[in-house]
Amino acid sequence: MIVTLSEAPTRVGAESKGTEFGLRLAAISSMKKALLILFASTSIAAQQSPGQIRPRPAEGREPELRPPTIREYHPKSQLVAPQHPVPRAKFPVVDIHSHQSTPISAGEFDQVMKGMEANKLQILVNLSGSWGDRLRHGVDALRASKYKDRMVLFANVNFSGVGPGFGARAAKQLEDDIKAGAMGLKVFKDLGMFDRKADGSRLQVDDAELDPVWDACARLNVPVLIHIAEPAAFFEPLDYTNERWLELALYRDRRHQDGVRFETLMNERNNMIRKHPNTKFILAHFGWHASDLARAGKLLDQSPNVYYDVAAVLYDFGRQPRASHDFFIKYQDRILFGKASYQPDEYPYYWRVFETNDEYFDYYRDYHAFWKLYGIGLPDQVLKKLYYGNALKLVPGLPRAPFERLATP
Ligand SMILES: [Zn+2]
Repeated sequence: MIVTLSEAPTRVGAESKGTEFGLRLAAISSMKKALLILFASTSIAAQQSPGQIRPRPAEGREPELRPPTIREYHPKSQLVAPQHPVPRAKFPVVDIHSHQSTPISAGEFDQVMKGMEANKLQILVNLSGSWGDRLRHGVDALRASKYKDRMVLFANVNFSGVGPGFGARAAKQLEDDIKAGAMGLKVFKDLGMFDRKADGSRLQVDDAELDPVWDACARLNVPVLIHIAEPAAFFEPLDYTNERWLELALYRDRRHQDGVRFETLMNERNNMIRKHPNTKFILAHFGWHASDLARAGKLLDQSPNVYYDVAAVLYDFGRQPRASHDFFIKYQDRILFGKASYQPDEYPYYWRVFETNDEYFDYYRDYHAFWKLYGIGLPDQVLKKLYYGNALKLVPGLPRAPFERLATP
């Protein structure tokens, strides 16, 4: 741009003659002034970090109309772009991260099945399987159901009052639960954030007393789906630069400005993962690294026993469609579909992001993400792994007949 403009006065000068000459000179002089201003503003821009908003002529001006509050402003996009909503997944899906009642009643399962059929969800993995008697009743209810191949359970461990001898007892309970029909272990986010040891101290994710539990999962060949921490923004100052400000303002229990820090939890989690290389860990919510895919990739590179589910972080893939597309291609064997909250009308947003190249469409919760989503257009063989292939590999007990005819050659 600078080169083009600096050539312009020379051309004007060469063509100028007679009485027009003075006018031409004036024009050259004003163009030079414009150039100087341009150079000056370019060098200011060079000093600013990329993406920083530059001073504008209207800076300091106050709106003449009352500005809307964060809850009032809902601009309607003027963009007219091709729309390809996807009400139903392209291939049958295993939702590796679901929460259902344990035991589930026949009537409730009927209700759940309607949403499953509408979305092409083949299997829900109910991570709220509990342990002991309740887990057994949960398994019994599923086995007696007319939909018995459509839902399975993961067991949980009760982490309250951890002290000497806890790990061995918990591992024994888990082994009984797996024998009773549970297909994996789900660990809730309380571990690291809220669970206390018998002595009152915070139970660290990498506490050695828990080692027998992780080892049992390796021995029994079942995965651990583990939710540690919350989005990093939940731990950051609650000021107007926090991109989850509205959500944090609405939900007191999501605020973690005090107490254990995000990075402390990440360190403990990664340390625990390193100590148990034979245990397969599915990190719920992409390990909270969907907003930093380089970091997400580094963890997968360092720890071959780590996998991610995509639950509740769709807004992070949808705002970086090119990087997400490349990540899902590169790590296609390490990512599993999961949704966490069972809202049948929300699944189609996932299908649309994964399956299409649509641009600038709404997310389903404005307090979660006030930005728009873009499709990441995954090819069929990657969709199949994401939707069911990787789950079938990691969870040996899943009913696989419905998927076998779809297997990737
Ligand atoms: Zn969960």
